[in-house]
Amino acid sequence: MSPIWHPFTQHGLQEPIPLVARAEGAAIHLADGRRLIDAISSWWVTTHGHSHPRIAKAIAEQATKLDQVIFAGWTHEPAENLARDLIALMPEPLAHVFFSDSGSTAVEVALKMALGFWHNRGEARHRILVMEHSYHGDTIGTMSVGARGVFNRAYEKLLFDVGTVPFPAAGTEQATLDALDQACRTQDIAAFIVEPLVLGAGGMLIYRPETLRAMRDICAHHGVLFIADEVMTGWGRTGTLLACEQAGVVPDILCLAKGITGGSLPLAVTLATPAIFEAHWSTDPAKQFFHSSSYTANPIACAAANANLAIWRDEPVQQRIDTLAARQAAMLAELAALPNLANPRQAGTIIALDVVDPAGTGYLSTIAPRLRESFRGAPVLLRPLGNTVYVMPPYCIDTADLAVLGQAIADAAESIR
Ligand code: PLP
Repeated sequence: MSPIWHPFTQHGLQEPIPLVARAEGAAIHLADGRRLIDAISSWWVTTHGHSHPRIAKAIAEQATKLDQVIFAGWTHEPAENLARDLIALMPEPLAHVFFSDSGSTAVEVALKMALGFWHNRGEARHRILVMEHSYHGDTIGTMSVGARGVFNRAYEKLLFDVGTVPFPAAGTEQATLDALDQACRTQDIAAFIVEPLVLGAGGMLIYRPETLRAMRDICAHHGVLFIADEVMTGWGRTGTLLACEQAGVVPDILCLAKGITGGSLPLAVTLATPAIFEAHWSTDPAKQFFHSSSYTANPIACAAANANLAIWRDEPVQQRIDTLAARQAAMLAELAALPNLANPRQAGTIIALDVVDPAGTGYLSTIAPRLRESFRGAPVLLRPLGNTVYVMPPYCIDTADLAVLGQAIADAAESIR
C-alpha cells in the first residue's frame, strides 16, 4: 500500500487509487493505458487543456533562468510583467497585486487585508459576513468563512464566528438582500465575502447577476468591504473572464487562482484597490502587510501565468468558451429530460444537475458512492458533489468527448433508479 494520504479521499472506500501517467488536451491517460475525459478540469483548474505547449515552453525556459528567489523586498521580471498585465486586464480601480500559492491563501490574504485596512485606520471592524453554503478553502481561516458541516466538524472549536446571509435561491433574493442590509448595519462588519454567481463546492448553486450587483451596492452603501472569491469562477468559467463582469461589479478585493496559470502550476493573486493598499502604506513598520510564504510569486509559476495571459490575448479563447457553453446547454437540456435528474442549471462552461435522492442531499448523500462507482466504470473523470453531478471541462474539449460525458451521466443516473 502507498504511504500517500490523499486529500478529500476516504481510503477505506476508494482503493486502489488510479495511477495517472500523463495528460493532454481534455484527457488524462492512466498508467494502465486507459484514456479518461477530464470533465472537471482536474479540480477546476485546467482551462486551455492539459500540457498546453505555450505554457509548457514558458515553464521550461523559466526553470533554467530563475527558478526561485525571496520576494519580501526583492522582485523579478516574470512577476513584474504579470502584475502589470493583470492590472491592465482587471477592472479599475483594482491596482495592486499580492501573490500567493493557492485559492485558500488568496482568500486568507483577502481577509487579512480587510482586517488590516480597518485596523490601520483605527476603526474597530472585525467581523466578516459570508453567504450560506459557501466554500473558500480548507485552512482554519477559510473554513471559518465557509459553510459549516461534515467538512469541518472536527475543527469547529478553532473556527471564528461570522455573520451568515441566506443563499439567494430563485424567488428568495429579496430575503438575502434584506438580511445583508440588516447585517451591514452592525457597527463591527469589516467585509462581506462571496463566490460571484456560482457557489462551487456548495453544490454548483447559481444565483442571478442582479443579486450580486445589489449585494455589492448594499456593502458600498454601508462602507463594508466587498471581497469577490473568483478562485473557481475566474478565467472564463462562467462565460466571461470574471463572473463579476456579468453584474457590472468591481470588488474592493478580488481573489484569483486555479486558471491563472492555465491550471499548470500553483499560483494565486489577491488584487486590491488603492484605498486598501494605502491603508498599509506607511513609514511605520507596524502597518506593513504581515503575510508571506516561501514561494510567494515563484518565477516559474509567474512565467506559466504570463503564458496564460498571452493565450487569452492571442487565441480565440472567448470564442471557445462561447462554443463550449452552447454545446453544454444542449447537453443539459437532454439530461434534464431524464426522469431522475433534476434542477438543471448552467453558468457559462459549468453545467450541473441533481440526481434525485429520496434519502436526502448533500456530500454524504446515500447515492453518492453508487454514482461514483458508475463513473469509475466509464472513460471519464467525473467527481460528483454528493448527489450533484456537474461538468466543467477544459475549453478545448470536442463534441465527441462531450457526448461520452453526457452518456456517462445518463447511464449513472439510470443505474441508481
Ligand atoms: N475558493 C473557491 C471559490 C474555491 O472553489 C476553492 C477551491 O476549490 C478555493 C477557494 C480554494 O482553492 P485551493 O484549493 O486552491 O486552495
